[in-house]
Amino acid sequence: MPSLKGNQSTSRTLNRLLLLNHLRRHGPTARSDIAAATGLSPAAISYVSSELLEQQVIAELDAVADGGRRRMTRLDLNYAGHVALGVKLMERSLRATLVDLGTNVIDTLTADVDARSPAAVARATADALADLLERSGERRQRLIGIGLAMPGQHDAERGVCLRCDRFGWKDVPIAALIADLAGVPVWVDNDVNAFALAEHLFGAGRQASSLAVFSFGRGIGAAMIVDGQLLRGRYGGAGEIGHLTVVEGGPRCECGRLGCLEAVTSLPAILNAYGIVRPSDRSIDPAALAALAGEGDPVAREILDTAGRRLGAAAATFASLFDPETMVIGGEGVLFGPALLDPLVATLKEKNFQRNTEVFVEFWNDDAWARGAAALAIDSFFSLPS
Ligand SMILES: [Zn+2]
Repeated sequence: MPSLKGNQSTSRTLNRLLLLNHLRRHGPTARSDIAAATGLSPAAISYVSSELLEQQVIAELDAVADGGRRRMTRLDLNYAGHVALGVKLMERSLRATLVDLGTNVIDTLTADVDARSPAAVARATADALADLLERSGERRQRLIGIGLAMPGQHDAERGVCLRCDRFGWKDVPIAALIADLAGVPVWVDNDVNAFALAEHLFGAGRQASSLAVFSFGRGIGAAMIVDGQLLRGRYGGAGEIGHLTVVEGGPRCECGRLGCLEAVTSLPAILNAYGIVRPSDRSIDPAALAALAGEGDPVAREILDTAGRRLGAAAATFASLFDPETMVIGGEGVLFGPALLDPLVATLKEKNFQRNTEVFVEFWNDDAWARGAAALAIDSFFSLPS
């Protein structure tokens, strides 16, 4: 946890966070109800709210009747008052999405880039920002900053990618490279951590005291948030569940070892397993495999069922270790549909030591990762600096 000195500006910061997080979780609220819920004094609320109103972070809604007794003005987050850019980096492209304070998509673009070159990534990110600001007509003054989500382990505090096997990066100060070109603050983190933050701030974990996410697609990973804080680990590697050994002497993983969950059950591994049995269908995608399973194709059904049970067991291991209130399943693998998701969720519930964990499957689309990336920037409004 970040340490704080006990002075006036510290208590202002904490009061600000209490108020903002109350509005984030509960929506429009009258000042008196915020006082009752948070324990803040009316004077403190008045002081902090006038500052936030001036900064256009919150807004005053029209007065509403309160049970016929009196009319009360409610406060809410001013979602349109600020924007952030989220960038999801993939091997040969990036997806950049401009969102409002609530991670609602304003505009989005995909650009080609060779992810093995950090300089090219920085340039493409700065260009994407300029393009999206121009296209949307949003002003740069409203921009909180850029969040970059990518695989690997990161020092989020310093904005350094410590290690990314997929793109061949080691100790790359990517946040500074982008900030030099774009001229705005930049945050970088593991893509699954970013997805978890987005779910915590404005997704299925909005009301939860603790949240886990389990994501599977090109990679497999998990992340955990407790009391608003991401569990990152000393070297940014917490939650790398994709590198559990599940098949001794199994296929080679991109981390260099054999038989990792990710080497056996990632999205490409699942498609590959089908392609081996049916070589004529080598270019099949997740939606097509899901459709085949839906029609009763026995090969598709068996491959997706086996993968779903294996993934569910890994998700259950993570849930049993950390006991989250809520767990969200996400990633492109969701597109494999019920033939994989049903056994995944059933196995997760069956093998999870804690029986009360609420499980949600995220509806997955192309903007989901980039919205997560934007949450890295937006979270700076809702949490203490780390
Ligand atoms: Zn591995």
